[in-house]
Amino acid sequence: MTGWLEAIDRLARERAKAGLTRQLRPRAAGDSVVDLAGNDYLGLSVHPDVVAAARDALDAYGLGATGSRLVRGTTEAHADLESALAGWLGADSALVFSSGYLANLAVVRAVGAVCDLVVSDAYNHASLIDGCKISGIPVKKAPHNDPAAVETMLRDHPGRAAVITESVFSVDGDLAPLAELHEVTSAHGALLIVDDAHALGLLGIEGAGGVAAAGLAGATDVLVTATLSKALGGAGGVVAGPAAFIRHLVDTGRTFIYDTAPPPAVVAGVLAAVRVARAADDRRAELARRGARIAERLREAGFDVRDPAAGVLSVPAPGPEAAVAWAADCRDRGVAVGCFRPPSTPDGSSRLRLTLNAGVTEADFANALKVIVECAP
Ligand code: PMP
Repeated sequence: MTGWLEAIDRLARERAKAGLTRQLRPRAAGDSVVDLAGNDYLGLSVHPDVVAAARDALDAYGLGATGSRLVRGTTEAHADLESALAGWLGADSALVFSSGYLANLAVVRAVGAVCDLVVSDAYNHASLIDGCKISGIPVKKAPHNDPAAVETMLRDHPGRAAVITESVFSVDGDLAPLAELHEVTSAHGALLIVDDAHALGLLGIEGAGGVAAAGLAGATDVLVTATLSKALGGAGGVVAGPAAFIRHLVDTGRTFIYDTAPPPAVVAGVLAAVRVARAADDRRAELARRGARIAERLREAGFDVRDPAAGVLSVPAPGPEAAVAWAADCRDRGVAVGCFRPPSTPDGSSRLRLTLNAGVTEADFANALKVIVECAP
């Protein structure tokens, strides 16, 4: 038998041959790169109110939470953030986690206690897929955005099911038919779990998210998860839903109980970000304008792109190497764009992922658009 590091090396060579090696690049503070790759949709990671709130909490509490909430207690910032998020999303109650990934693991595992089937959209995020794996109940993959297929799966199932989807999908940027899905789930007594990561702050009145925009806020058979790291510019995750379910997560959610609480400074910064985000209609309108403009420009250049439903725009590339070269050329010219290849793309294709950022100036945005088109394969 070969040594384990030789076996690891062989796998690395196979990935390299398939064009699937990932690069860790340096990022300097205050560099002049125009960001169309991150998820700082509203530009709140650097908003003065957000940074000041985080700095104050840093002074008050120090760097880390120093333990889980159950061990070290709930700071005022954690409690205030949870009520602010519940109020914003129109939910009964909310629980904050140290990442969206951990929130998703918790919610899917928790429904495993009261459901006996999970129906998961084929394009769901890795965190939801992993949540399905640890739920301990059978999982059926539903064709992407297909309420009729979900209906068939539920009709054939005698027990209680949970249906899981994203609201805005993270790679393609398309919107799930949430109202139709909810019609199907409620008709069959199933739960609907929606990951609102890419819609919170962008869709709905005051940016309350995709679930709110679909008229489902506060529904007792809908559970919402989101990350606090995208439009809110911070870090952490949230699950929002009926108080009894949130109580269940506090008592049984392993990624809540055994995980150190998110740092108070981050929580305080995110709380400030919620207040800014609710009032940020101007930033949301600017994003919608930019999304339509960039999609039109790329269509003129011959690419098959849709107007983004929120802040994510997907541009097909001829293959993984072409996608990497396109992104590298853009970066060399000062524009950061996302490059997605298998296994990060649900359908095995390669593409650029452009993410809008209201913090980018108009001049930088116009130049970025030009660079992306000029560097196209
Ligand atoms: N869900 C979706 C749809 C995401 O795109 C992400 C972030 N990549 C997550 C969950 C995980 O969130 P976090 O980065 O806060 O762990």
